[in-house]
Amino acid sequence: MKTLRRISLLLLVAALACALASCSITIGGERYSDQSKETTAGATSAETRTSSTAAKTTAAKTTAEGTCAHVREQNYTVDVQPSCTTAGRKSYHCTLCGEIIPGTTVSIPAGHTPASTYTVDVQPNCVYPGSKSYHCTVCGEIIPETVVSIPAGHTPASTYTVDVQPNCVYPGSKSYHCTVCGEIIPETVVSIPTTPHTPGPYEIVIYPTRTHSGWKEQKCTQCDLVLEETRVEIPPDPNSPYD
Ligand SMILES: [Zn+2]
Ligand SMILES: [Zn+2]
Ligand SMILES: [Zn+2]
Ligand SMILES: [Zn+2]
Repeated sequence: MKTLRRISLLLLVAALACALASCSITIGGERYSDQSKETTAGATSAETRTSSTAAKTTAAKTTAEGTCAHVREQNYTVDVQPSCTTAGRKSYHCTLCGEIIPGTTVSIPAGHTPASTYTVDVQPNCVYPGSKSYHCTVCGEIIPETVVSIPAGHTPASTYTVDVQPNCVYPGSKSYHCTVCGEIIPETVVSIPTTPHTPGPYEIVIYPTRTHSGWKEQKCTQCDLVLEETRVEIPPDPNSPYD
């Protein structure tokens, strides 16, 4: 009975103090209309415990309308994970009631997850370029903005092919051919120098006389060109019938 009397006395004092401070308090309940008084209004330890429990379950703090006066979490909570093609969303939740705080929801854009290496989608050939891209590691699709062209091009052989045999008049040419289509790869074409002339037998052009020398020369057996460097003088011939 002593204990009960003491509690009654405490409640009376508390109610009195509260009346003086002009706050409204529900003795034995869990609601305070004045939030600033929550920790200082002389609530008994039992009441403090009740209100902290209530915070987790119903709502310790309420607005005038009786709904939760939300307290924002520090970080966003992802409510809907975005996928490759559909957007997600995130929001701030209330630390008290766990609900999404209205007006804080933002969209998380949809998007693929690019692989770290290229995939060749179209093999280039001699004539047509190919393409490669990063694929999505989730859905496998080509990520359009990563598509790049692979230039078309021949595959050069490792040895030259003589395309035009040179002769003593015209130079020839050789090139690397493509091992795939066989065509000459234009930028590999190089010239082959002309071959030397092939001197034929000496032919006397001017016969010597007893008093004048003559000369002889050689022609190329391939192109019939007179090889002027072969021209030599024939000394006068004492046996010539001419002067
Ligand atoms: Zn809340
Ligand atoms: Zn994807
Ligand atoms: Zn080719
Ligand atoms: Zn010649």
